[in-house]
Amino acid sequence: MSGVGEVSGANRYLSGAKLLEEAFSAKEKAYAPYSRFRVGAALLAASGKIYRGCNVENASFGLSVCAERVALFKAVSEGERDFAALGVAGDGEEYCVPCGACLQVLAEFNPQLVLFLANRRGESVEKRLDELLTAVFSLDRQKVSSNASGNRQGLKIKNSPEGA
Ligand SMILES: [Zn+2]
Repeated sequence: MSGVGEVSGANRYLSGAKLLEEAFSAKEKAYAPYSRFRVGAALLAASGKIYRGCNVENASFGLSVCAERVALFKAVSEGERDFAALGVAGDGEEYCVPCGACLQVLAEFNPQLVLFLANRRGESVEKRLDELLTAVFSLDRQKVSSNASGNRQGLKIKNSPEGA
């Protein structure tokens, strides 16, 4: 991937450290009275702006939203479409890996998004989104519009191991 949103070289270390600092700050805003597992996310857009998110739980558990999607939706609603990297900080002993739903939503905008994932002690690991989510659901809009009868020919899976 190229463009202003690219994270490389010396920028990579600085971006990771900065994003995780922002993610830890975002975690302090988490609304997690049910799980008590707080998560903060910080998403770096190509514009250079960083968008923070925290998990927002609900008494109707299924309505809860993860920190990663909160950050992404904030950014997209501000007009951002190009993202370089995401920092995620959780309350656990393990590196805070985004759930499958968040990976899918993030992949819509950048399947090669760089991820900096931290545990509660601030130790971190760097991953790429397509390492964690190897097959992304994708709609081919043109085929869908020409197959309005609703059959599945308009749907395809990108990066499928079988090449489907
Ligand atoms: Zn999630």
